[in-house]
Amino acid sequence: MPSEHDDAATRAWRVEAIRRIEADYNRSADTHLIRLDLPRYPGIPLYLKDESSHPTGSLKHRLARSLFLYALCNGWIGPDTVVIEASSGSTAVSEAYFAKMLGLRFIAVVPATTAVPKLDAIRFHGGDIHAVDDPRTVYDVAQRLAAETGGHYLDQFTYAERATDWRGNNNIAESIFAQMAAEEHPVPAWIVCGAGTGGTSATIGRYIRYQRHATRLCVADPVHSVFHRHFADRTAQSLPGGCASCIEGIGRPRVEPSFVPTVIDRMIAVDDADSIGAMRAISTRLGRRVGGSTGTNIAACVQLIGEMAARGETGSVVTILCDGGERYGCTYYDDGWLAERGIAWQAQEASAAALFAPVR
Ligand SMILES: *Cc1c(COP(=O)(O)O)cnc(C)c1O
Repeated sequence: MPSEHDDAATRAWRVEAIRRIEADYNRSADTHLIRLDLPRYPGIPLYLKDESSHPTGSLKHRLARSLFLYALCNGWIGPDTVVIEASSGSTAVSEAYFAKMLGLRFIAVVPATTAVPKLDAIRFHGGDIHAVDDPRTVYDVAQRLAAETGGHYLDQFTYAERATDWRGNNNIAESIFAQMAAEEHPVPAWIVCGAGTGGTSATIGRYIRYQRHATRLCVADPVHSVFHRHFADRTAQSLPGGCASCIEGIGRPRVEPSFVPTVIDRMIAVDDADSIGAMRAISTRLGRRVGGSTGTNIAACVQLIGEMAARGETGSVVTILCDGGERYGCTYYDDGWLAERGIAWQAQEASAAALFAPVR
């Protein structure tokens, strides 16, 4: 934590820090909303909110910006504060970007087994790595490092849902609805997203209700995650064996404080092989690679769209392209890596590809 007294130098620093974040935002364009017409499902267009186009490549760019602004305005970060996070993934990459922008040291506490390309991405943005042997200790170690250095632990899993302005401020939900305005079905029948921190689903779910839209929110969750179990039975709080899913960014072994089940209308559990199959099918359709959690979203969309068509309904379905495929070349796009893990995705890819196929 910065010093107790908010002196003139600290105030001036904070003003400049917030200006830099706002100026960066002011220079940025919104992320694209890609429309995909599905020839076999006339009247049910699918839209992808492309969060891979942020400067740090994922939807965590929004979260990192919100966490920094929240901490700055709360007086939790000052000119000499070391900023710390427990993350080996996209969150640390985006947070390193903002820390560098403010001239602050950033430390990512990561499991020692974290893949080198991910560590490289954090270091690329100027972040330091603190590796720990036992992955379960990352939260405690981050907390301890913050105490030792007088730093600030950003704690995405606690603060994601409250650091984001769910009523507006061009959050992901407001942006989606604004970009849908001129479509023939401007109010989506469904919005589909995943849950890692739960921040995205909390923001979208609250926004839908606040705006009194008829849209329903579906969260696609890996089979080996506790979130959909908790949604069905609130006494389910953790998975003793940990989260065995390999889909990065989503699915958790414990119900995170930022996960808000009461704003969700439905959850669909998706097998990893279905996620990988759908990821490959949507990558082929787009002509570029996307990450695994986008595949999980698409797999849930396949199910929802099939159900809508069976009931004779029309309407739009919106989901999130969470990140691109660059970081997954040695994993989800490596047939050998998948085979080693017993993930047989080929049949699932073919069935997901049918969503985009022409009418015969
Ligand atoms: C974090 C993350 C998600 C889930 O978003 P939350 O807002 O944390 O629930 C999905 N996909 C990827 C790639 C992520 O990094």
